Amino acid sequence: MAETKESEAKVSKKKGTKKRATKAEVSVESIDESLGPRKYVMLIGDGMGDFYLKELDGKTPLEVAITPGMDFIASFGEIGACQTIPAGMNPGSDVAIMGLLGYPPEKKYTGRGPIEAAARGIELKPEDVAYRCNLVTLRFDGNDLIMEDYSAGHISTEEAVELINSINLKAATDKIEIIPGVSYRHILLWRGGSGGLHTYPPHDLLGQNVWFAFQSYDEEPYLKEFILKAIEILEKHPINQKRKMENKRPANAIWPWGQGRTPDLESFEEKWGLKGAVISAVDLIKGLAVLSGLEVIEVPGATGYIDTNYEGKVEYSLSALKEVDFVLIHVEAPDEASHEGDLALKIRAINEFDRRVVRYLLERIPEVTNNYRILVCCDHLTPIPIRTHSSKPVPWAIFDSQRDRVKKKDVKFCERVAYQSNLFFASGPALFEYFIERKPRIEEEELA
Ligand SMILES: [Zn+2]
Repeated sequence: MAETKESEAKVSKKKGTKKRATKAEVSVESIDESLGPRKYVMLIGDGMGDFYLKELDGKTPLEVAITPGMDFIASFGEIGACQTIPAGMNPGSDVAIMGLLGYPPEKKYTGRGPIEAAARGIELKPEDVAYRCNLVTLRFDGNDLIMEDYSAGHISTEEAVELINSINLKAATDKIEIIPGVSYRHILLWRGGSGGLHTYPPHDLLGQNVWFAFQSYDEEPYLKEFILKAIEILEKHPINQKRKMENKRPANAIWPWGQGRTPDLESFEEKWGLKGAVISAVDLIKGLAVLSGLEVIEVPGATGYIDTNYEGKVEYSLSALKEVDFVLIHVEAPDEASHEGDLALKIRAINEFDRRVVRYLLERIPEVTNNYRILVCCDHLTPIPIRTHSSKPVPWAIFDSQRDRVKKKDVKFCERVAYQSNLFFASGPALFEYFIERKPRIEEEELA
């Protein structure tokens, strides 16, 4: 696996000078250029990390999963931990992966709304605000207003689009409208709007009395008026009447949240001097790619679930690597299994990720290059006991095809070994810079 031809320590002459040399490139130049430019592959198993579980006799899913691919990377290369979620920020994939692509979320992140909007090709002006907008089911219980379902019974896209169209027809203004998406997931666009509101993700409010969250919209009367009109339209809508008759949950309210203006991300290529591409089934990750100018590669059969087209993701990334220097492959399945609280499924998702992505890549990448680095990590932990994301540090491991020719130790890729390692990065960008062996070409200040 990942065997490399001997490089004879021959430092060949530079073939054509690079257009923009920087201090950070110096270290790269010492590498044997006959091997061609160095390629970087980042493999993210979403939410793979976990806590030490009673059900597993104090082990984590990563410790019991069968992962010779990741273990190879950790044993030949380096393993450590990284604090991907900055203090006080929401431990989401969008925050974590923004950091792992080298953009500090504490400076750049504005909300998930504009990232999803970018993934959907919705262009915002600098003064516009995009909210993620759910169709939800609210229920009165005495004086309480209960969040019965953040997805309005996973309403069909067909029904949802008709409901949103009715809202737009009767309530949209030249400033506010909803752009319909898939199932319960839509975008509310507020041109010249306010993004300062405190909003609450509806999936965090399930079964709770949500008056406090609903009343927080009072601070923006223009938005609140739109929400109240939408509720009125939804309440009377024939689709909801029909859903109630069929004992399905009505989509009786909209719930805007996660808002922000478009984040100001420098071009990935300009910032890092690397051409890059991203492979993911998840809109948020695609949106980050669009916003940073990374190519989004669509892989047929990529589902974001355990049945995803793993090998396809690797094959598409291998052909991309002929053109680009950096590829991110994101696999969502372990996170989904964790949210379902299904430990066996989570372990299976990790096994599949290792066998069909990590090992398959290690086997096949020498067809493209013998000069590469692979980083494997998770974006955040999604521990089974809490069934949601955690802000604790994640494990990572790096294999360098030129450096790591002998096994240094015999370790498992897991939280325990990562936490004991002295390689700890306090942020995603710090790990990213270490991985790609360079500093940003553009400093933040230069952009102002
Ligand atoms: Zn998740």
